[in-house]
Amino acid sequence: MENVIIIGTGCAGYTAAIYTGRANLKPLILSGSMPGGQLTTTTEVENFPGFPSGIMGPELMMNMQAQAEKFGARIEYSQVTSIQKTAAGHFEVVTEDGVVREAQTVIVATGASPKHLGLPNEKSLIGHGLTSCATCDGAFYRNVPVCVIGGGDSACEEASFLTKFASVVYLIHRRDVLRASKIMADRVLANPKVKPVWNSTISEYLTDEKGEVRAVTLENLVTGEKSELELKCVFVAIGHIPNAGFLGDLVDTDENGYILQTKGTRTKTEGLFAAGDVADHVYRQAITAAGQGCAAALEAERYLAEKGVH
Ligand code: NAP
Repeated sequence: MENVIIIGTGCAGYTAAIYTGRANLKPLILSGSMPGGQLTTTTEVENFPGFPSGIMGPELMMNMQAQAEKFGARIEYSQVTSIQKTAAGHFEVVTEDGVVREAQTVIVATGASPKHLGLPNEKSLIGHGLTSCATCDGAFYRNVPVCVIGGGDSACEEASFLTKFASVVYLIHRRDVLRASKIMADRVLANPKVKPVWNSTISEYLTDEKGEVRAVTLENLVTGEKSELELKCVFVAIGHIPNAGFLGDLVDTDENGYILQTKGTRTKTEGLFAAGDVADHVYRQAITAAGQGCAAALEAERYLAEKGVH
């Protein structure tokens, strides 16, 4: 029986592992399908405290992994498919290979996956002129045209943020009305650097000789007309999918599928904690995920002490 199983190897998962490891709980981490989480898909991370010259996303995650392992965390590269809570009060964590692992507590740090348009070369362009994080990557695109696709609050927030850097921000939306809250929509549309492109979507990414995005093919969804739009980066902001589906009734979620925490990082199921982007649609930052991972570890430790298990 494990003291704690941590699901996910992003900033929240590794931070939870560092803290539970230092508490001598010998955490077991189950990696999920994207070891290292979303930061492994970015280039330089300039806003993680402690790195004044920035640090590459993959390197930051490798450092976190090494730090977790230094304190006794074990990592298994497998995907969790379901969890049950037993009548005895512990958890059975089932992975895709059918193996069942038992644990007194579980910390869910499975993150949220940005939605993509589903175009053929899309995944290979991530980090090469295609991203889902303006806060992470906006500063790399100074004085060049960029676009945001989406019409919700995220798209508006990203577009407003990008006007600090880009020469022009095309806001490409599939309808002619933004879904975003009125205040965010009004603000973004009033910004002279934002050029809305209504009733349109991207049907193709066009790349230069280095494989970086140089333009997109726009498709007008009303007329069917196609045109080419030159730009250096596409910020995809069509929503996220929190990776919480495998938890079933063990957690309550909001209307977008994000886990609802009851107190701190606790969930409605005793002994089950949630940290990071799987429970946070507001901040979604590496450092806030790490902070929640720390909090979940401290709460798991207290829970085990109260139960007299450790
Ligand atoms: P969202 O509200 O679901 O909006 C997604 C947008 O992407 C919609 O405009 C949608 O178009 C468009 N879209 C979806 N699939 C698409 C596709 N395949 N092709 C083209 N366009 C597509 O997602 P979100 O903006 O990430 O916001 C999620 C939640 O977080 C919301 O509750 C939001 O209010 C909240 N949030 C709040 C803040 C804030 O208050 N500061 C900031 C960010 C997010 P349609 O409009 O046509 O459906």
